[in-house]
Amino acid sequence: MMPTTPDHDVLVVGAGFSGIGVSIALQRAGFDDHVLLEEGHDVGGTWYWNRYPGVAVDIPSFSYQFSFERRTDWSRVYAPGAELADYARHCADKYDVRRHVRFGRRVTAATFEERAQRWRVLTDDGAETTARFLIAATGVLTQPKLPDIPGVEAFAGTTIHTARWDQAADLRGKRVGIIGTGASAVQVIPAIAPEVARLTVFQRTPIWCLPKPDAALPGPLRATMQLLPFGDLGVRLASQAFVEATFPLPAHFGGVIPLGRAAERLGRWYLEREVRDPDVRDKLTPQYALGCKRPSFHNSYLQTFNRDNVALETAPITRITKRGVSVQGNRHALDVLILATGFKVFERGNMPPFTVTGRDGLDLETFWSQNRFQAYEGASVPGFPNLFTMLGPYAYNGASYFNLIETQSRHIVRCLTAARRRDAAIVEVTEEANDRFFRDMLARRGRQIFFQDSCARANSYYFDAHGDVPFRPSPSLEVDWRSRRFDLDDYRFAAA
Ligand SMILES: Cc1cc2nc3c(=O)[nH]c(=O)nc-3n(C[C@H](O)[C@H](O)[C@H](O)COP(=O)(O)OP(=O)(O)OC[C@H]3O[C@@H](n4cnc5c(N)ncnc54)[C@H](O)[C@@H]3O)c2cc1C
Repeated sequence: MMPTTPDHDVLVVGAGFSGIGVSIALQRAGFDDHVLLEEGHDVGGTWYWNRYPGVAVDIPSFSYQFSFERRTDWSRVYAPGAELADYARHCADKYDVRRHVRFGRRVTAATFEERAQRWRVLTDDGAETTARFLIAATGVLTQPKLPDIPGVEAFAGTTIHTARWDQAADLRGKRVGIIGTGASAVQVIPAIAPEVARLTVFQRTPIWCLPKPDAALPGPLRATMQLLPFGDLGVRLASQAFVEATFPLPAHFGGVIPLGRAAERLGRWYLEREVRDPDVRDKLTPQYALGCKRPSFHNSYLQTFNRDNVALETAPITRITKRGVSVQGNRHALDVLILATGFKVFERGNMPPFTVTGRDGLDLETFWSQNRFQAYEGASVPGFPNLFTMLGPYAYNGASYFNLIETQSRHIVRCLTAARRRDAAIVEVTEEANDRFFRDMLARRGRQIFFQDSCARANSYYFDAHGDVPFRPSPSLEVDWRSRRFDLDDYRFAAA
C-alpha cells in the first residue's frame, strides 16, 4: 500500500537556536517543505523566555553562535540575553526561517502511524499536522520547575519564576526572597540586590562560582577584529579552545586532566578574596567536587553577600506561607518571592515535553524509564522510526550548545538525504547500533568526574533517576567527526 501523503516532509518542534539551526540545514539540503511549531510568539527559545535581570550567556559569545554566522560586534565577551535574542531574530530573518514557523502552537502529542508511515502531531489548539519526519528541537531547560515545598501556591505577595520574569514587577524598596542558588540565581542576585530593601537568599546547595573573564568590547576593538584578515575566526578558535578546556575535557577526562582540582583552588581563593564574613564564606563553600554540577562564572555574585541588605539563609525551608518563607527556627516576611529553582531536566515531562508514541504503541518516556536514557549518537531511538532529537540522551558534551546544534543537524540531514536517495519512507536506527553506542557511552564513565563520592552532595540536575549522567563523554572534535562519519548502515531504510 502506498503511504498516505503527509502535510509536510519534516515537522520540527521548537524555534529556539536548535530549531533555527536545523531549519537552515534542511533548507541547504533542499528539504524546503518543513514546518516549525513553536509555543512562544517569537524565535529564540531560552533567550525569548528567560528575561530576568542580569541574564547573560556563561560561555564567551564567540563560541555561543553559529560557525557560519560569526559576529564580532558583541557588546561584551559574554553577551547579555537581549543581544542573544536579537541574534536569534537576525539568524531567523537572514536565513529565511521565519516563513516556516507557526507561532503560538504547543505540541501536546506525537504518534507514529505505521500504515501511513508518518507522524501525526497534535497541538493545544486542537489542530493536527502530519509529517514524514519529526524532529524534537525543544531544548532541555524549557519547563520551569516549582520547588517541592509545601504551601508554594499560598504566598500572597508576588511570585516570579526566573524563566517567566514579570517585566512589570517593581522590586524597589521591597522585601525580596529568592529560592535557589543555581546558574540563574547567580545572575539575578547581584542584579537586583542594589534596588531592593532586603534580599534573603535561601540556599540548599552552594555553587562553585569562578571569576568570569568578561569585559565590554569597545568599538575600536570590534572594528580591528573585523578588519584583520581572519580576525573573527582567530577569536573564535581561541574561544572554542577555552570552552573545551573549561568543561568537556576536565569533566570527561577528569582522571587524566587534573584541571578540576586547579579550578577548585581558584574557587576557594576567590571565595576568600570576595566574601568578608567567614561564617557566610563557609556557607557559600561547596562540599562537593567542582564539576559535579555546572559551575558558574560571575564577577559580583560572591561580593553581593557583603551587602548589609543581603542575608544568606541555609536552614531548610519548612513551608511557604501567605506572608513569606518559614525555615527551621525562623520566619522571613516577604513582599516578593523569586523562584530560581530551575527546570525539569532528565525527567518525565521534559524529554521531550509531549507524549511520543512510536511503533506498536511504544511510549518514549516509558522506554527510557525501563531501559535507562539512551539514543544512538544522541539523535535516534529504535522503535521510533523517522524521529530525531536535537538533544537526546548522550548528545551534549557540555561545550557550546551551538556545536551540538550543528553536529545533530548534520546527522539528521545525512539520514534524510540518504532516505531521499534511496526513495525510503522509513529511517530507523537498528537496535544493534543503539546498543553498541550505549555500551560505549557507559564504558567511558570511569574517567568522568561525575562518579565520585562527593557528587552525591551536589544535588545536581546532571543525574537522572537511574543515577546516570546522560552527557556525551567525548571531546567536541570527536562529536563533530562522528556526525560526518557515522555508518549510515546503522539505520534501516525501508521503501515507500
Ligand atoms: C538562563 C539560561 C542560560 C543558558 N546559558 C547557556 C550558555 O551560556 N551556554 C550554553 O551553551 N547553553 C546555555 N543555556 C542552555 C540553552 O538552553 C541552550 O544554549 C540553547 O539556547 C538551547 O536551544 P534549543 O533551541 O535547543 O532550546 P530552547 O532555547 O529551550 O528552545 C526550545 C524551544 O522549543 C519550544 N517548545 C518546547 N516545548 C514545546 C512544545 N511542546 N510545543 C511547541 N514548542 C515547544 C520552546 O518554547 C522553545 O522556544 C542556557 C539556558 C538557560 C535557561
